Amino acid sequence: APSGRSAALRARMEERLLGARFRYINQQLYTSTGQEAAQLFQSDPEAFEIYHRGFTQQVGRWPENPVHRIVRYLRRRPASLVVADFGCGDCKIASSVKNKVHSFDLVPLSPLVTVCDMAKVPLAAESVDVAVFCLALMGTNLQEILEEANRVLKQGGTLMVAEVASRFEDIRAFMNAMGQLGFKSVSKDLSSAFFHLLEFAKTGPPRRRPAPGL
Ligand code: SAH
Repeated sequence: APSGRSAALRARMEERLLGARFRYINQQLYTSTGQEAAQLFQSDPEAFEIYHRGFTQQVGRWPENPVHRIVRYLRRRPASLVVADFGCGDCKIASSVKNKVHSFDLVPLSPLVTVCDMAKVPLAAESVDVAVFCLALMGTNLQEILEEANRVLKQGGTLMVAEVASRFEDIRAFMNAMGQLGFKSVSKDLSSAFFHLLEFAKTGPPRRRPAPGL
């Protein structure tokens, strides 16, 4: 049996390796299309498991997990609102609120997940009151994904975005692009060093393509 010291060293090395593999897969998710991401997870189921363990570990080190902010937000609003959770992961939202929640992800971490690419979700147009992207605005086809959120949202419906602060290159350009995609800013919280929390309302269908600045 390994001595205490070598076991601890091994555990530390394994954690670093897991962290490195998580960062590698995370980077792939942010720099490929949803279809490519789906292929990655299909061809290597371990990649998804490693990604989610790394993700949970990473966000666990933050002072606050943005998904809890979104849950608190939903609890303040009527439980009758229908929610769509794009890139739901382990479905923390669906399992924490009374609302009807449609949970979408590439891989089913929970039985509550509907497996699909979030650029094409199986929901009727204008059927949802609140659309959520919690640390899930990933991929090179952001415009397509946000257009899909616009399609399923009712007029005046809410779009909540929580995203890693360092992912924003130019927040003003981003807000501008969101305006072109039919979303007006309702509130934004840029106070966390880790994530930005942005609330939008749907003003209408996308007005301009392409919308640079995302
Ligand atoms: N929203 C969850 C999980 C965030 S991790 C939470 O905050 O806890 C990002 C999730 O987005 C991952 O589960 C990943 O599989 C999913 N994802 C990434 N690209 C996707 C796509 N094109 N379609 C559906 N889900 C996607």
